[in-house]
Amino acid sequence: MELVFATNNQHKLAELQAIVGTHFKLLSLQDIGCNEEIPEEQDTLEANASQKAFFIYNKYGYNCFADDTGLEIEALNGEPGVFSARYAGEDKNPEANIDKVLGKLAKINNRKARFRTVISLVINGTEHQFEGIVDGEILKERRGRSGFGYDPVFLPDGFSQSFAEMNLQDKNQISHRGRAVAKLAEYLKSIDN
Ligand code: IMP
Repeated sequence: MELVFATNNQHKLAELQAIVGTHFKLLSLQDIGCNEEIPEEQDTLEANASQKAFFIYNKYGYNCFADDTGLEIEALNGEPGVFSARYAGEDKNPEANIDKVLGKLAKINNRKARFRTVISLVINGTEHQFEGIVDGEILKERRGRSGFGYDPVFLPDGFSQSFAEMNLQDKNQISHRGRAVAKLAEYLKSIDN
């Protein structure tokens, strides 16, 4: 079965293709000729993932899945959450986003946070959602140079390295996205007979 992953990131696509195996041929947005921006206007991760997957399903006619991720900080009532990419402004600057988080937590002892990914899968108009969570804390300063986004200030529980100090493989083993993808892959295998 062909399945669109609503992304233009070829690296993410190749990684997932390896996990889901040969019965599902994953297509990127580019592969289906979708060059437009996909609307992402909702106020929860669930609703955003859903909006993206149904947009492709309804407009392009492909079975599809889409993901949405947010960093949820306990002492900030779950902020930045669904606004993680543009927390410090519409230019989506990761350094400014980190500075804003560190500034807001400067005088706060509770550093608990988690990354949460929601994947929405739409097959023949029916939706299934999969969630992946990694708990951790926000460091007082940046550590490491790998990864992206908030990785330099996120220390996963039970580990001594920040996400930006880990290699990609180690991060994927425990990450929010890795966990959500594992659930998706398990589901796809269960319907692939
Ligand atoms: P997206 O839904 O995957 O585009 O993620 C939204 C935003 O969350 C990104 O722009 C990053 O700021 C942040 N984010 C998502 N995943 C990660 C991660 O693995 N590490 C650090 N930041 C992340």
